[in-house]
Amino acid sequence: MAIRIDGKVISGIIKDEVKAEVSALKEKGIDVTLAVIQVGEDPASTVYVGNKKKACAYTGIVSRAYNLPEDVSEEELLSLIRKLNDDSDVNGILVQLPLPKHISESRVIETISPKKDVDGFHIQSAGALLTGEKGFLPCTPAGIIELIKRTGVDITGKECVVIGRSNIVGKPMAVLLLRENGTVTICHSKTKDLRSVTKRADILVAAIGKPKFIDASYVKEGAVVIDVGIHRNENNKLCGDVDFESVEPVAYAITPVPGGVGPMTIAMLMKNCLEARKQQG
Ligand code: NAP
Repeated sequence: MAIRIDGKVISGIIKDEVKAEVSALKEKGIDVTLAVIQVGEDPASTVYVGNKKKACAYTGIVSRAYNLPEDVSEEELLSLIRKLNDDSDVNGILVQLPLPKHISESRVIETISPKKDVDGFHIQSAGALLTGEKGFLPCTPAGIIELIKRTGVDITGKECVVIGRSNIVGKPMAVLLLRENGTVTICHSKTKDLRSVTKRADILVAAIGKPKFIDASYVKEGAVVIDVGIHRNENNKLCGDVDFESVEPVAYAITPVPGGVGPMTIAMLMKNCLEARKQQG
């Protein structure tokens, strides 16, 4: 049986590390503050935002909520972001995605000051990631690196295969694995013979967005399998991009859904907020 990589436990450790540092700053009269902007009332977004606020409360980070109506204009949203950029009491700014169709996500992301870009989505953060400069790392891929390392797996020299090339998961994931000296391949919907590529992987990261797509036939015996997907199945239960029951018997280690990558994303957000406060002096 594979090791179940417990994202709940590992994220709990990271949040406790953040909590200790936030509390030490508080004793010196310094607060860490995250502004969380939600546009509209999409139920999934409301759950994600709620979980982020809970994590702030746990770690001692002050969360300031901004709830804007679905029909808010892009200019109103951008002007709120500019105001928060200039507010020295705010250390991190998070705009919950997706946004309504009449608002350009890329304009919104580019308006957030790179100094407060705790999601790590700004083009400057992406550039820093690529060139190895200091910058905020996108939370989900950064959390996955922590999961792998804290499971005691050395990435150096390993065959790493990432399925998915989105800007928020697949691409930064590949760059982070490369930074850790993995030999990295990125697959996508145009990849020919996906199985023959994924079968080579010592570390396989599935960020496809298709429920239970990866079964044992895609996985090399003894691989570490990281499942980024989040879906609701026909019984309204959460599942991932990996068919857990099929893959667990062949893997060395595997993340479950729920309780794998998801909690790490939030823990890394807390870490980025603390880092933002420290950098802002
Ligand atoms: P996305 O933007 O939809 O990207 C999916 C990627 O998978 C694309 O690059 C696509 O290729 C590729 N793909 C689709 N079908 C494929 C196939 N048959 N073979 C090979 N590649 C295929 O999704 P995302 O935003 O990266 O998210 C991926 C999953 O992770 C989703 O389930 C999402 O809900 C979840 N997620 C979870 C967290 C978390 O905190 N746990 C955070 C973010 C996302 P093309 O580029 O060629 O279209």
